[in-house]
Amino acid sequence: MSAYDVVVVGSANVDLVASTPRLPQPGETVLGTHVAEHPGGKGLNQAVAAARTGCTVAMLGTVGDDDAGRYLRSVAADNGVDTTRLTITDTAPTGRAVITVDEHGENTIVVVPGANAAASFDGFPTATVVLAQLEIPVAVVVAAFQAARAAGSTTVLNPAPVPATGLPAALLALCDVVVPNQHEIGLLGGVDRLLEHGVGAVIVTRGASGVNVTERSGSSWDVAAVPVDPIDTTGAGDAFCGALASRLAAGVDVRDAVRYAAAAGALATTAAGAVPSLPTDASITRLLGA
Ligand code: ADP
Repeated sequence: MSAYDVVVVGSANVDLVASTPRLPQPGETVLGTHVAEHPGGKGLNQAVAAARTGCTVAMLGTVGDDDAGRYLRSVAADNGVDTTRLTITDTAPTGRAVITVDEHGENTIVVVPGANAAASFDGFPTATVVLAQLEIPVAVVVAAFQAARAAGSTTVLNPAPVPATGLPAALLALCDVVVPNQHEIGLLGGVDRLLEHGVGAVIVTRGASGVNVTERSGSSWDVAAVPVDPIDTTGAGDAFCGALASRLAAGVDVRDAVRYAAAAGALATTAAGAVPSLPTDASITRLLGA
């Protein structure tokens, strides 16, 4: 029996979010309407997303020895995420993201990794599903997935952001499931390329156009998006990945796990911010039953 349903290996950041009527062009200054700070980072978001659906979650990552780092650890713990392996470094500040959101909910994001670049782990906990993203060094994700595979865990990679050099074949060979969005799958050279490198299933999220799933067996199907009125798309992909990992850990089949995750992604677009918008199991189940 695994120590956790889901272990998330990834980043934790403080997000600085500026709201503006429209996104600035290069060289342009626009006047925003308001500004706010939120907990974020794909790792923290996805750990909280999984925990809100009711599974046991630990987060592996690194924050700075500063107020931002203490804040992020408390947010994770308050949401039921085990933080004993969310380590503190005095060599770099806590990671930061600078986000602009326009009045249509579109966003731009710059991430400054800080302590996330120093992420490492010492001993790996057992988990039914290990979920990672790429806001921490790729070598750390490879080591985590090697440990996960050795322990018999299911590995799920959200390849975001896609490194400029692409994904090493050694990492793809360790992935049971890869979950890119429609921008990332283009950068990765398409679904077939990932499957050829040994990935078990590729789940492409397409925003309001829903999800496409292709399995190495050759079967491919679409899952429609759940209709909602979006106000801020920040966190949709993170809600999707956390909820997907949770359902896979619960042993439900891929089709039902993707339907559940699509509902989580849809709900995340209906509230501002990332962590505040991540839905609970009760709200996801209600939306699916409606
Ligand atoms: P990312 O945030 O990584 O770009 P997506 O925008 O593809 O990810 O969103 C992830 C999933 O969340 C989508 O596949 C879809 O199921 C759901 N989703 C996102 N935006 C909407 C929307 N406007 N309406 C309904 N569902 C959405």
